[in-house]
Amino acid sequence: MGASVDGSVASGTRTPAPARALRGLLPVLGAHRGMAVRTFGAALGGQVALVVLVTLAAHGVGAAVVDGAAPDAGTVGALLGLVLLRSLATWREMDLSHDLAYRVLAELRVRVFDGLARSAPARIAGRRSGDLASAALGDVEALEFFYAHAVAQLLASGAVFATGAAVLGFVDPWLLGAVLPAAGLLVLGPLLDGRGRAARGARTREAAAALSAETVETVDGLRELLAFGALDRRRARLRAYGRRLGDAQRAEHTWEAGAAAVRDLLVVAAVVGVVAAAAHTLSGPWAPAAMALALGCLAPVADSAAALGQAGGLRAAAARVGAAIGARAGAPATGRPVPLPDGPLGLRLRGVRFDYGGTDVLAGVDLVVRPGETVALVGASGAGKSTVAHLLARFWDPGDGVVEIVGDHAVDVRHLADTDLRRAVAVVGQDAPLFHGTLAENLRIAAPDAPDERVREVAELCGIGHLVSGLAVGERGATLSGGQRARVALGRALLAEPRVLVLDETTANLDAAGEADLAEALAAAPGAETRTTVLIAHRPSTIRRADRIAVLDGGRVVQTGIWEALTGEDGPFRTLLTRTEP
Ligand code: ADP
Repeated sequence: MGASVDGSVASGTRTPAPARALRGLLPVLGAHRGMAVRTFGAALGGQVALVVLVTLAAHGVGAAVVDGAAPDAGTVGALLGLVLLRSLATWREMDLSHDLAYRVLAELRVRVFDGLARSAPARIAGRRSGDLASAALGDVEALEFFYAHAVAQLLASGAVFATGAAVLGFVDPWLLGAVLPAAGLLVLGPLLDGRGRAARGARTREAAAALSAETVETVDGLRELLAFGALDRRRARLRAYGRRLGDAQRAEHTWEAGAAAVRDLLVVAAVVGVVAAAAHTLSGPWAPAAMALALGCLAPVADSAAALGQAGGLRAAAARVGAAIGARAGAPATGRPVPLPDGPLGLRLRGVRFDYGGTDVLAGVDLVVRPGETVALVGASGAGKSTVAHLLARFWDPGDGVVEIVGDHAVDVRHLADTDLRRAVAVVGQDAPLFHGTLAENLRIAAPDAPDERVREVAELCGIGHLVSGLAVGERGATLSGGQRARVALGRALLAEPRVLVLDETTANLDAAGEADLAEALAAAPGAETRTTVLIAHRPSTIRRADRIAVLDGGRVVQTGIWEALTGEDGPFRTLLTRTEP
């Protein structure tokens, strides 16, 4: 299940090769170029101050030992100044790098959200949305390390090492010869182990995502688990997921500890090499100064190698974030939108074929809904009714054929501006997601500027007037019953006064009286006379309210007609009705 959570973030999208995934996210820094440069400057200042400080101090100590001379006031002043500079630069770098990282993360979160919304609105509007969001956002959070600690540090330590090595080489090529192999191996290590690190990091993140999804599902389903006595089994599963995460994290840390030991060994070996070389060529206080310089410019390289390694473990997270950001749209934006026709709108599907990546769900649907008409779209479960609703709302585009909105002229929905389409066509499901906030806020989602009295009026019509006075909906609408949620869903759509209303089993959760109430609300709400309605339903009493019925079977509309005609003849509709509960 963890794999599916992880996979689905990127499903339907291009996943960049993990090796390039981190680099692929670097351009996000482009928008914060000034800040990135200042962060680099602070990191460089801090590292340079430290290298000069230790070199000068070592020279001072060397001079005191060899010449018996105490450092002069100028040297002491310079040392104090460097300590101060180092402290200030370190503080500034931490401050700037985190500020930069959090800004970048805030932007990434929005881009990931946009990508998810763009790529498959219907898919992410489903039950898994919370898991998807937490997996995607967890990945974004993990990248904080990369932006806050890796990038500036890497560049600064490269510059410091290059300068320090040049000085050492200028003094004596043997000194350079002593530090170069260590630096090379320090940088090479994380590069050679890149794949292994990525795999270990991916294992940890997969285990973490699986545990998170499992925990969310368990908490969501606590009532059922308690009721069916399944809590113990669930607890054992949670423990197993927790162990898997622990194992993955331990493996990563064990490896990390080994790598740290190797890095220390390389630095020490290089310093010993410098001491050996200096013993031959340098005299007096310059020998300890060279040693300190070597140590000073190798230490940041070792730190950067550690950061590079740790960042390597984030490749899987970066790949998923990159994939979500670069997701292709299920329904690409229109270049030059065509205006919507005025007045009542009809619908026309012509030869519509559609699949979700497998076999055809719709295989040539032809359907006309006249302006102002109510057509019931019926069919067995899985026949593709909701898919038709998704195509009308343009969550996806059809593989072949066209979906048109017809007024005084016909417009392909692909040629409409998104805002025009959303204003004209509202799709209401059976279980509309509710957001934390008051009921009025929930009703206003499609019409944020609707005045209070309109909200109250529509709530009243939908039978939730008594709930609207300031009641908070609570965590995902948990305080509302299924029937009340359906009423909120319908109220939300009616408040926006859409010209085309698609009701996808909206009243399925209501009893017969509730269903009749909502039918009345539909008829009484403003715009009812000209509103066009597609009614996806299975209950005969609901279907009967439609002006006309269209039966979907085998991916096509196989029968259309009025209730009396269809019930009066042998055919798909009669067969369907006999299989449906009254
Ligand atoms: P209906 O509303 O008539 O019950 P749907 O339109 O929901 O049917 O589904 C038609 C078919 O498409 C089903 O086989 C369903 O499993 C499949 N399907 C629906 N949504 C998706 C999706 N997001 N991804 C893949 N397959 C889907």
